[in-house]
Amino acid sequence: MKRTLGFIIGVVLALVLLNLLASLLNIAFLRPWSAAPPADSPAIHKIVGAAHIHTRHSDGSGGLQEILTAARSSNLDFIWITDHNTLALLDSGRLHRQPLVLVGAELSLQPGHLLVYGLSQWTSEQRMGGLRGILDSLEHRKGIALLAHPYHPKMRWREPVDDRIHGMEVLNADVEWRNDRPLEMLGTLVAYPFFRHAMNFLIDYPRRELHLWDSLSVRRRFIGIGSVDAHAKIKLSKTSYWKFPPYDRVFSLIQNVLYVREPLASEPEPARRQVLEALRAGRLAFGFAGLGDLRMATIWLEADTGIYLPGETIEVDRETSLRLHIRLPREHQFETYLYRDGVRIAGSRLKTITWAIQEPGVYRVAIFQRRIRPTRFSRIPIPWLFANPFTIRMAP
Ligand SMILES: [Zn+2]
Ligand SMILES: [Zn+2]
Repeated sequence: MKRTLGFIIGVVLALVLLNLLASLLNIAFLRPWSAAPPADSPAIHKIVGAAHIHTRHSDGSGGLQEILTAARSSNLDFIWITDHNTLALLDSGRLHRQPLVLVGAELSLQPGHLLVYGLSQWTSEQRMGGLRGILDSLEHRKGIALLAHPYHPKMRWREPVDDRIHGMEVLNADVEWRNDRPLEMLGTLVAYPFFRHAMNFLIDYPRRELHLWDSLSVRRRFIGIGSVDAHAKIKLSKTSYWKFPPYDRVFSLIQNVLYVREPLASEPEPARRQVLEALRAGRLAFGFAGLGDLRMATIWLEADTGIYLPGETIEVDRETSLRLHIRLPREHQFETYLYRDGVRIAGSRLKTITWAIQEPGVYRVAIFQRRIRPTRFSRIPIPWLFANPFTIRMAP
């Protein structure tokens, strides 16, 4: 009996060890790519930022200075702070330009968590007004309201999505690693001290979120973003916590790239307006920057009337010819897909792609990196970048 038990424990331990070794091997091949941005693309300025950040003013562990330092080390142009139900940093955030600081909040409302930007105060009257009241004041102030983690296992959004909500988090780092298997988590933790990019191993395809995003985008503009939901805090007991994962690591994992036509202004106020304008228009892509700089991809739509960026709406007539262009770095391998109204209609492994667009619809591009997975002796596609859709309408 004792010998059988010892044998079983031995086998289980050996399997766990083997699994850990396999994880380490796979993680070793997930280093971020570097490359020069692709040549031969129109002049589009790309602004990189991290969204959904908690500080010491709610349940995060860091102060503003610490978070700014982490953002600089991840080369971010902007950060969007969203403490729970407070705008405590509104005044101190205003002054910074490197990176630019947007101070919003993550509001706990009856149907779920809402990420907002543009409120100047958060009062108990507003709280009483609930979701409708918040959306009223945001509309008035030209702010932003996004669903935070609509499928969070504990805090999912529990209502139909109000028409005045601008969009949603398609990626949320906190949700990202909650749905991984315990052995994958363990492998990542073991690899973490050796590989800065260990968390790349936890990247999943956000199937349900993409489905919700697509189904709402078909009806109206509905922005998708990627969020870090950074806390840098894991509670160990009532009084102690572990500062993990640190701000700089999550800042380099999930990012948003805003597409703007003019370089970002040097003063904070006008620069913030540019960022807000691009965000509200959904002129952005988001994804797993931990696998490689998202600015390496360039996506634009060419019409006879000019160049359009992801998130934009184009009115066409029968004569208009439209070409969707994608440029990717030559030295790496990709799989790029095009979706119309949520349905995959084209795919390519090329680095210079031009697709002719003939029908009206909502067109979205998703790019996967093809990465070596040594334990499978092959390359596998890993989700990397999701662009907000181009909406193509027939002119009346
Ligand atoms: Zn939340
Ligand atoms: Zn949060």
